[in-house]
Amino acid sequence: MALSADLPVPGSLPAPTPRPARDPDRPLLDALFLGPYGENDTLLEKLVVEFLRDHVYWRRNFHPEDPPAIPTHAAQQPEYQAFEARLRRELHQLSASLKKSVPFHSPRYIGHMASDLLLPGLAAQMLTLPYNPNNVSEDAAPVTIDLEVQVGLQLARMLGYPSDPAQPQCAFGHLTSGGTVANYQALRLALALKAFPVALRAAGVPDIELPGDDWSAFNAGPDAGTELLVKWQDWLAAQSPRDRRRWREAVQAERIEHLGMVGFFARHQDLRVPKVLAPITAHYSWSKGLKLLGLGRDQLELLPERGMRLDAEALEETLQRCGRERQPVLMAVAVLGTTEYGTVDPVDAVVDARARALERGLGFSVHVDGAWGGYLATLFRNPDGSLRGLCEVREDYARFPLPEVHAAFAALGRTDSVTVDPHKLGYLPYGAGAFICRDHRATALLSEAADYVFREGPVDPDPARNYLTRYRQLGQFVPEGSKSGAAAAAVYVTHKVLPLDHENFGRLPRQTVLAAEALHEATLGLARELDGVARVAVPFAPDSNLVCLAINPAGNADLSVANAFVRRIHDELRSDPRQPLQLKEFFGSMTTLRPEAVGDVEMARILGAIGLDPDTLDPDGGNDNDRLVILRHTLMNPYLVDHANGISYIDMYLAYLGRRIRSLLLVPAA
Ligand SMILES: *Cc1c(COP(=O)(O)O)cnc(C)c1O
Repeated sequence: MALSADLPVPGSLPAPTPRPARDPDRPLLDALFLGPYGENDTLLEKLVVEFLRDHVYWRRNFHPEDPPAIPTHAAQQPEYQAFEARLRRELHQLSASLKKSVPFHSPRYIGHMASDLLLPGLAAQMLTLPYNPNNVSEDAAPVTIDLEVQVGLQLARMLGYPSDPAQPQCAFGHLTSGGTVANYQALRLALALKAFPVALRAAGVPDIELPGDDWSAFNAGPDAGTELLVKWQDWLAAQSPRDRRRWREAVQAERIEHLGMVGFFARHQDLRVPKVLAPITAHYSWSKGLKLLGLGRDQLELLPERGMRLDAEALEETLQRCGRERQPVLMAVAVLGTTEYGTVDPVDAVVDARARALERGLGFSVHVDGAWGGYLATLFRNPDGSLRGLCEVREDYARFPLPEVHAAFAALGRTDSVTVDPHKLGYLPYGAGAFICRDHRATALLSEAADYVFREGPVDPDPARNYLTRYRQLGQFVPEGSKSGAAAAAVYVTHKVLPLDHENFGRLPRQTVLAAEALHEATLGLARELDGVARVAVPFAPDSNLVCLAINPAGNADLSVANAFVRRIHDELRSDPRQPLQLKEFFGSMTTLRPEAVGDVEMARILGAIGLDPDTLDPDGGNDNDRLVILRHTLMNPYLVDHANGISYIDMYLAYLGRRIRSLLLVPAA
């Protein structure tokens, strides 16, 4: 164990401080990761060797009568040996250079959204890799494709979506390469649902009751869109094979997926290209998504926030305006754990606003971008799937969750789709994002193979089996093609070992929220300690496990001076491949606060708290002086507070920060 100089050396350890009653999670947490010190190396090594051997036996048992294709003496050939030498050299070089990697596993890493990997996922992924399943379809992944569909159901249950595939309106989820692509999928599905009723009208489908005009068809809302889709499928199934083909082609020809934006809106001149409403804190994947879909970045309308959360009143006003101007809305996005500040948007207010807008004839989808905060839903879920009450959740913490945060999580089940990143707060290897939609029937609109999906041929009488069969052609529905079955195995096994409720997986995010509360609390001590040297403040209380810190040298009122100072501190906290890793004491990240995002009043409050003059904000200033630079800490590591060893990396970090601030300001240590 690396001890810092001011800690007692082993042998002279004081009696261990008794573990506080609040640490019953620790025995489980101790088993979950390889560990900052590689403590659980024996466990991982045993698993890797055991299952590598198991894989080899599997190969041998396929057709044991086949003689080995590679002769036993192959390894004695000079060329073989030269190859092995080259391979080893390159691997050694790779391994050596990877030592410059960012030490995500360390409790000294509190920078970006990365941490150690959960052993169940790491082991399952390594175990699966040599089988190399491709989750594009069951032909290439007879096992892992089912695991991916199950992962979708596990996440659906965590979110409060219907998760019984025997029910017709069950949710559906799948993995993506990350949250960015999951957000694209949300846009794609919302657009398909929005435009489908218009296509039905344009094709002149008889016998189905359709909205009276294009405007009401385009704005019927996702639930009505899904109902129409199901009615249409049933109607189609009742037609003769010839009529069925004719009608299917007629509707297909009117769909936005067929015509493209240009063709579709040229045919429906009374309709405008719909807007996506998202908070100004939204991740840049939304901008990318609108460009990719051909909607155009101009259709992304960013809404202001209040107290670092989406301003529900601004949303309401925008929706009123859209209704008046006959401006359709594709989707409203609520962020569950913003990338920059970890704040939680009022999902409940967004679904309420949607219900009111729908009554006025302005329907649209509600998507939750929970790439970061999705797994925090485990804190609010009982093992039986029911929701935990606010008071019950609160018992574990000093102030988490605020009632508005609890209300946001409680409302997840009323949204249409959610993005969750297993490779962020799921502590799994990269290449694992997830998209989940509440009603799986809508996905028929995403399918490439209309033939299959539009219910022809025999249908299994067991609905759950039917559901599985349908999604075994996963490539038909997802944005990607070939995709990792090993990633699906990793997520599945993790969710099985650690079910997505507060008693199991939830113990992990609980540690991170407690760490955030500890950091928040400890900054007050740092602020006192630095009195007369620098002003330190947490600009807004954290909603979850991200804590930001604003700093300003004492006596300074000029924003540009404070920004330059915080940038210098951040330079020491960020990864620098030119330096030996060990020189780095801690890793942190930074972000900025802009008046147009935070609002002028809130901005003035934050600047005032650290003694800055709001007039020194320069709206058209270069060098980022139109915003405040702040430190940002993502608290993912579960070992930040080590009660057994009496070590708090949080206290150590703040002590370090205090030393750096004094030293940069040439103030002698206190
Ligand atoms: C990280 C993040 C994304 C993007 O996810 P990737 O996995 O990096 O593609 C989207 N939205 C939010 C809120 C995020 O935090």
